[in-house]
Amino acid sequence: MPGRSILVLDDDPAVGQTIQWIAESLGFQAAFVSRPEDFFRLLDELSPEFITIDLVMPELDGVEIMRLLAGRKCTSKIIISSGMGTRVLDAAQRSASEHGLDIVGVISKPISKEALHLLVGDGRGSMPPVPEEEPKADADNFEVEKSGLQGALDRHEFELAYQPKIQCKSGAPAGFEALARWRHPDRGIIMPDRFIPIAEETGLIDELSAQVFDQSLEWFSNAFPLGELKLSLNISAKSLVDLHLVDSLFDLCRKYYLASDRIVLELTETSAMTDPILSLDLMTRFRVKGFQLSIDDFGTGFSSMVQLARLPFSEIKVDRSFVMNARQSQESRTIIKSVIDLGHSLGLVTTAEGVEDAETFDYLNGLGCDLAQGYLIARPMPGETARSWTEQRMAPSH
Ligand code: C2E
Ligand code: CA
Ligand code: CA
Repeated sequence: MPGRSILVLDDDPAVGQTIQWIAESLGFQAAFVSRPEDFFRLLDELSPEFITIDLVMPELDGVEIMRLLAGRKCTSKIIISSGMGTRVLDAAQRSASEHGLDIVGVISKPISKEALHLLVGDGRGSMPPVPEEEPKADADNFEVEKSGLQGALDRHEFELAYQPKIQCKSGAPAGFEALARWRHPDRGIIMPDRFIPIAEETGLIDELSAQVFDQSLEWFSNAFPLGELKLSLNISAKSLVDLHLVDSLFDLCRKYYLASDRIVLELTETSAMTDPILSLDLMTRFRVKGFQLSIDDFGTGFSSMVQLARLPFSEIKVDRSFVMNARQSQESRTIIKSVIDLGHSLGLVTTAEGVEDAETFDYLNGLGCDLAQGYLIARPMPGETARSWTEQRMAPSH
């Protein structure tokens, strides 16, 4: 199909036709089918940019259609339409994303022009706004190996990006989280999801953390030597076996003249703690020395609750998977609210990460969430820009 196109599958011709007309009135080339075999035939012929699929159909239902689409590695953007309640729509959306399909949203029937326009944009003009992407690693087939990682550590190829956190109520900056990036000489920027697990498996995580801590504390002490802003550092559960960890980080704070209560350690439960008793000791000592402790990705670890009860956390971070879905999913909103209430009843600072839209931000603020972090506020940025970002954000006009 030339231009922007939509293929509509709905067993009810009246509904299918209506969607087709709405799409055409938005400037799209639109085709409508009511039978699965016609759908798959047209799909091959037209390679449409968008597909809308009715969930409830007599022959193959929408979920089965999406399984077949996943098997064909379909790259069209998919919109699920249905008259069913949001719980079912949410589950269908989740299942489709887990199958690797590109779901752009769900619309409930009766379908309005506004709802469709919101999801697909304008057929003649531009695409709906797509957020600016992180630098993408040219490293898809690249195996991160121990030797490569050791070399990268030796050559100091790790850099840090800093992502702001703000106070929900006032909008004022609250601090930054340091996020590691590997600037590979040939492959460009490699993101942490690729190398942190390998560093953990190969025993290089402590050396990596040491470099990250030194670099970020040096940056932080230069950029914000005094004041209320905090620096959050990610710490792997695997590192909680090193008896010297607490003292070495405390010494580092002294080296850079930073008060330890300005440092927040975010503990992600990517791997089970090797030695639960030793980790408890270390975590307690961190608190005793003044550091803040945050339980990261809360709600995703299999024992988040146990860890929360056992370890002396001062902050709870609602996992971004719930926050990013808040707008579409009632379940996610319920979980967010419960985690924030739980955090507050335990006297913890509550942070939501992955805030991507203003509606979610307002929802969080309404719940009394303390801090927010996410693309809506700012993407991770180089250290040099963080200061001017902060100054701008503090300016009265903001
Ligand atoms: P995390 O601690 O949950 O960090 C937040 C991640 O979410 C970051 O990804 C950040 O770029 C991303 N993010 C922030 N706001 C948004 C948003 O609004 N939408 C979306 N879709 N994503 C958002 P990043 O930088 O790729 O880091 C991935 C993970 O790698 C981190 O997850 C953390 O667990 C780990 N990591 C990063 N740096 C370090 C490090 O120095 N040490 C250790 N141990 N782990 C690290
Ligand atoms: Ca984190
Ligand atoms: Ca997190």
